[in-house]
Amino acid sequence: MEKQGKRQLRVVLVPCPIQGHINPMLQLGTILYSKGFSITVAHTNFNSPNPSNHPNFNFLLVPDVLNEFQSSSGDMMAVVLRLNDNCKAPFQECLAQLMKQHKTQDEVISCIIYDEIMYFAESVANQLKLPSIILRPLSANFFISRNALLQFKAGGNLFLTGLGSEEIVPNFHPFRWKDLPVSKFGSLETMSQLFENASHVGNSAAVIVNTMDFLEQPSLARILQQCQVPLFSIGLYKFAPAFSSSLLKEDMSCITWLDKQTKNSAIYVSLGSVTLIDENELAEMAWGLANSEQPFLWVVRPGSVRGSDWLESLPEGFIESIGERGCIVKWAPQKEVLAHQSVGGFWSHCGWNSTMESISQGVPVICRPNSGDQKVNARYLSHVWKVGLELENGVERGEVERVVRRLMVEKEGMEMRQRAKDLKKKAEHCIGKGGSSYNSLNKLVKFINSF
Ligand code: UDP
Repeated sequence: MEKQGKRQLRVVLVPCPIQGHINPMLQLGTILYSKGFSITVAHTNFNSPNPSNHPNFNFLLVPDVLNEFQSSSGDMMAVVLRLNDNCKAPFQECLAQLMKQHKTQDEVISCIIYDEIMYFAESVANQLKLPSIILRPLSANFFISRNALLQFKAGGNLFLTGLGSEEIVPNFHPFRWKDLPVSKFGSLETMSQLFENASHVGNSAAVIVNTMDFLEQPSLARILQQCQVPLFSIGLYKFAPAFSSSLLKEDMSCITWLDKQTKNSAIYVSLGSVTLIDENELAEMAWGLANSEQPFLWVVRPGSVRGSDWLESLPEGFIESIGERGCIVKWAPQKEVLAHQSVGGFWSHCGWNSTMESISQGVPVICRPNSGDQKVNARYLSHVWKVGLELENGVERGEVERVVRRLMVEKEGMEMRQRAKDLKKKAEHCIGKGGSSYNSLNKLVKFINSF
């Protein structure tokens, strides 16, 4: 047990309520709990986690006062900006209460760890004279590319060059203009404002980056040059792989289906927790998968196809044509799926969690980035780590069929699978004793104990 005198140390976590941000924060909570800290998760009404999935944590509701229109607008950037405005006062009140309670118990709040885009937590920590630490849940490469975007926007030459261009961004190799992390979930203005606000470390005592050094060394070095406070790079997922923080119910029947497939034969298809597609893209995906003749496990999230509740928009004759060769679910236990020996490839939107999970399990990727940091991750998967194929010409059934076959049955795909296995070994080394994430985690624990 980590004690300060006789007192138990408690860490308060402030995740951003988006699945891809919740996961790393709760993974961090699990890791810190295993190191003896008590954990409180401060959460909003919007996308609140299910406490019964996390019996070891305490939960603190911070009323977010979002109305129905705001929370369902689809403009995530605007939602997060509003959360920062709305949650500051209630969070301060809740936390002050919590501190009072802990005064009478043998416990002390050691620090607040907040998602960098929930920066209201930093001002509250300041007010209450509590130390705070930033968690950057996305990649170091994203942080660098985001800086590029802000820098060129401030210089006024973002639109002159053209964000869709294939040319390399000066001083930001290997990014092309088209890889810069512009989001589809909000305007460039809202996005820049959020990024700008999130870039300030303020009075925070340290920064945690959710990554593994061997993947992003140059970008980490670049961040370190500018960072005035200690930086801990920790591949969180690798330390807490068995842990689920899904907001949706995982359909375990797909594991039974995978058990019946042969080694490396199945492609897993998932576009994450927020990507939306239209009916046409659904149909092209469907026929491309069917025509590839490879077994596939496909997550179609309810509401992810515009204008449909779930599978009503699948083309006629598709389900009959695939028979047992395809399995479609609403939400999968992704970590178990990627660890399953039957899975030989992952068609992904390239969210950072999915990217890290895929690399950690040695599974090569078909990259179909949609928005924001996904383009950055796709660029690295395909161009730098060389474990990914990009769907260059959009989602068209002939192209899908060819890319799936290239990855799943051709020599090129086998070589990628081998490189992915090599990265998996490096990831294992990274969290093993003496590895970079292992060392960073121990330093972080010492750092928190020093407050
Ligand atoms: N995920 C899951 N089941 C699914 C699809 C996704 O558990 O059917 C998890 C996945 O393991 C990952 C997260 O949801 O941890 C998605 O995060 P990511 O950063 O990849 O993408 P986002 O959803 O933020 O776009």
